[in-house]
Amino acid sequence: MKGLIPENILEDILGRTDIVEIISGYLPLKKAGANFKANCPFHHEKTASFMVSPDRQIYHCFGCGESGNAFKFLMRHERLEFPEAVELLAKKCGIILPQQSDPQAIRRDSLSSQLYKVNELAVSFYENNLSANTGLPAMKYLLDRGVRQETIKVFHLGLAGSGWDSLINFLRSKNISLDLMERAGLILPKEQGGYYDRFRNRIIFPIFDMRGRPLGFGARVLDNSLPKYINSPETPVYIKGRNLFGLNLAKDFIRDSDCAVIVEGYLDFMIPYQEGVKNLVASQGTALTLEQIKLLKRYTHNMLMVYDGDTAGEIATLRSLDILIDEGVKVKIVPLPKGMDPDTFVRKQGVTVFKDKLDSAESFFDYKLAVLSRRFDIQDEYGKAKIAGEMLLTINKFDNAILRGEYIKKLSETMGIPQQHILEELRKLKPSSSGPQLPAAPPADKKSSPINPAEKLLIKLMLEEKDLIETIMQQLTLADFSDARTSKIVSVMQELALQGKAVSPSLLMNYVSEEDAAQLLCETIFMPQLNELGREKAVNDCIARIKVQRLKSQLEHLHVQIKTAQSAKDEGKVNILMQEFQNLIKKGD
Ligand SMILES: [Zn+2]
Repeated sequence: MKGLIPENILEDILGRTDIVEIISGYLPLKKAGANFKANCPFHHEKTASFMVSPDRQIYHCFGCGESGNAFKFLMRHERLEFPEAVELLAKKCGIILPQQSDPQAIRRDSLSSQLYKVNELAVSFYENNLSANTGLPAMKYLLDRGVRQETIKVFHLGLAGSGWDSLINFLRSKNISLDLMERAGLILPKEQGGYYDRFRNRIIFPIFDMRGRPLGFGARVLDNSLPKYINSPETPVYIKGRNLFGLNLAKDFIRDSDCAVIVEGYLDFMIPYQEGVKNLVASQGTALTLEQIKLLKRYTHNMLMVYDGDTAGEIATLRSLDILIDEGVKVKIVPLPKGMDPDTFVRKQGVTVFKDKLDSAESFFDYKLAVLSRRFDIQDEYGKAKIAGEMLLTINKFDNAILRGEYIKKLSETMGIPQQHILEELRKLKPSSSGPQLPAAPPADKKSSPINPAEKLLIKLMLEEKDLIETIMQQLTLADFSDARTSKIVSVMQELALQGKAVSPSLLMNYVSEEDAAQLLCETIFMPQLNELGREKAVNDCIARIKVQRLKSQLEHLHVQIKTAQSAKDEGKVNILMQEFQNLIKKGD
């Protein structure tokens, strides 16, 4: 893990970073004694087994074993390479990294980085078009639609003009290859050879990822021609359904308000956003995907869905509802009048009325029941059975027995169906039968062999009190540790202590790159704390136990050697080994 970046800088960065702050930027952490806990972001679970230690600056999941320090968390969560994670944290705490030579240049030139760069150039090209004289009609169109000048800037809106090769020529002047432009989805091959610009005569909405890097583009016509919107195709950096429009701007507002308002289109996002409703994201599609929901869950578990008041919107909402409930999200629905979307609603009725609408959001139950009642005849027994059946599919998704009970009661009361009949139908449904199949949790037993508990406890104690490292290592040698993982950790601790360096767990992680050793390290940290007295006794017990075990294995080893020497009739060797055996036994007494 370590290498190109000097260790003192890594130490400095970790010293100025708070892992709780970093992780709470991605998922809601709850206090649990001296630690914090959350549902693990690395495997699917409904009860929290992901622990974060503010004292030790590490995290560990007892479900899947994933563990590490702040660097590791960013690497896993943001899918970063180690130098990228270091760079990100360094920037956060204002530390300037020494200029790197080759390795980073190579990394920068990876395909994704090249695509971001091409997209960035395209963003500025389209932006310039919009602010040029030729962009006046488009600018007027946007202003007439209620998009303010500053909003145009914030969202980097642009214009693709009428030329067939304007972007191609611009990018060529920047030494971008046609191949790369095509891979970025910006140009298309002509039948007769050559290429042309994908987007023409359209307003451009750049789509950024959470870190503000341009992934792709949405493009809207200026008149009523069709298709109204076209989008970038999927590219190595732009995968549909994996990002949420506007999250880069809204994530702090979402976390602070502990609620995300989900809308559909670009303007549905931009118009309320500029009027001050900033905890928004746009799904850019009719239904939310599981990946989008997981992305949002890093910031909040409370979501409000605002969808167009038409049939397609209703169906999309119902579909998203089930996935959200399955994912343990508290979701409410904000239905808008027919033919209205958040964009038109805010422009016609004002943002205050929109906020009131958000405040009076409906529960999933009332919303779904209302939609179903419009579709089926509630007076007819078949209609009634159909509605109840559909409602039960969603109710069945709740894990919590109390919530399920409440909804069953409510369903029974509102529809006039005896509770026992509802329960009978519910029993027919397999647990969470419908809905998306979630990937199973990774096996928890990825550890190779069990670790000697005495060795594990000693490591914990040494981590808690640096002075113990010397005391303990006066009585034990590295060879006394029976496991490659424990002896590796102890050797690093010893080395750091000798150098007079801090032996913090989060720092140790940088040296112990073996996955299972790092995991072991984190596990020990969440073992219960011992008091002063207990600690001294534990140290002595552990040392004694480790010595006994070591002796036992040495004797076993000698025993085998003696047997071999005997069968080889090597009298001299047998005698020497027997002597050794006697000495060892004496030592053990
Ligand atoms: Zn986990």
